[in-house]
Amino acid sequence: MIALDEIEVRDEEPGLHRPPPRWDVLRAPVIGRLLRARRGRLLLQLPLLLIALLLIYDGFTGPPLASQNLATVSVWVHYRGLVIVALLLFGNLFCMGCPFTIPRTVALRLSGRGRRWPRALRNKWLAVAAFVAFLYLYEWLDLWAGPELTAAVIIGYFAGAFVLEALFAESPFCKYVCPLGTFNFVASTVSPSQITVRDREVCRACPGKECVNGSPRALGCGTELFPPTVRSNLDCVFCLDCARACPYDNVALALRPPGRELVEATWPRRWDVSFLVMVFAFTAVSNAFGMVPPFYDLQLWLAGALGTTNEPLLLAITFAALSLALPAAAGLAAAGLSRTLAGRAEPLRVSFSRYAPAFAPLAFAVWLAHYAFHFITGATTLVPVLQSFLLAHGIAWLGEPNWALGSLLPGDWILPLQTAVVLIGFAASLFVAQRIGQRDFESPPVAMRALLPWLILWLGLAAAALATFNLPMEMRGALLGG
Ligand code: SF4
Ligand code: SF4
Repeated sequence: MIALDEIEVRDEEPGLHRPPPRWDVLRAPVIGRLLRARRGRLLLQLPLLLIALLLIYDGFTGPPLASQNLATVSVWVHYRGLVIVALLLFGNLFCMGCPFTIPRTVALRLSGRGRRWPRALRNKWLAVAAFVAFLYLYEWLDLWAGPELTAAVIIGYFAGAFVLEALFAESPFCKYVCPLGTFNFVASTVSPSQITVRDREVCRACPGKECVNGSPRALGCGTELFPPTVRSNLDCVFCLDCARACPYDNVALALRPPGRELVEATWPRRWDVSFLVMVFAFTAVSNAFGMVPPFYDLQLWLAGALGTTNEPLLLAITFAALSLALPAAAGLAAAGLSRTLAGRAEPLRVSFSRYAPAFAPLAFAVWLAHYAFHFITGATTLVPVLQSFLLAHGIAWLGEPNWALGSLLPGDWILPLQTAVVLIGFAASLFVAQRIGQRDFESPPVAMRALLPWLILWLGLAAAALATFNLPMEMRGALLGG
């Protein structure tokens, strides 16, 4: 149990003085009742568990060709596209229905409350490392092309979640390790929904704080968030355990203006959190860059310069440079310059963190433009792959596979759409930055000077993303898509 004095409801916290939410999904007819039901989460998790088991089965026993296997097509074309659209339209629906956490209850029974996660790891550094390592492994092992490897990754997720949950309290797998969760946490900061409470006075008088401590009837918040003080979607897996545990039915899943948390002073000014969102932005571009011809030219040049053809090593150097060193160097340089131009004598950490929330919209837009490309061009591939899977198991309901299905949209629409998405993301980042400047600086000219280095950085990222999308992108995981 968390000490009650650690979870006091304090009025001075920013972003908390607002009236009860007008739009609460948990009060919606039918869907609200389903979500709050004791086994409500299972309604989402069980279908996803069945799909995960099916993918594991086809991954190990089905066709070895990626574009004909359910595991590779579903995970690398459909999952990613649907997840990011869900994040844009509603919120972190994948974590809400995540099948990897189903064994949580079993794991908790095995471990009791579990040990505390080591203090040194209670930050986002491990999440940054795991996120970049996952992108690296995807590239090095060509996960998109390997049905068996994809199935093994799914099993690895189940095993990782179970073991960490069994050993430690605080859902450390979701909060500190899981690369999918890390992606969803950062992306969901632009989403139009967030956990909050209906009446903070009820929370103030609440003796048990069951939403976080749990009750005999329901688990408390696994990631140890306290709903009346939740100001951000970072770390919230949308499991709604808090809503089920609250004896006063006081938790709300509120609709909000998309990205509201980015313009309020709600993010901690920490190196790890700020660096995470910068890595999220730089990897949005470098992940797409890894699928266009200049990336292979870069690898060839590096091989010549280092006199080695060791592919894992060359990729590791490229990934470390583009996904870690570059955001660190660019972020530190922009922070230092911003501080100097604004004439502020403040810790570099504060300058580094100030505009970190403004990275989120642009980064989200680049990921969206990239994953939407794969989804639009490859979505219909699922039909013949499913037909072929059923036929191979003696079921002919869906008929013979039609491998000639086309893209969801005409090919020449895609680049203009990607361009529009990136430009909207860039404009949203500027809007967030302008609001941050208004809040943090005494006059518009000082705010403008402080913003300038960051503006140049975002312009560079947006230009790099658009240049990458303009190049022919490698088709991956689907016959039609890339
Ligand atoms: S259990 Fe309910 S009333 Fe009590 S602090 Fe949590 S959300 Fe508020
Ligand atoms: S606040 Fe905690 S319990 Fe509530 S939805 Fe978020 S992660 Fe789940």
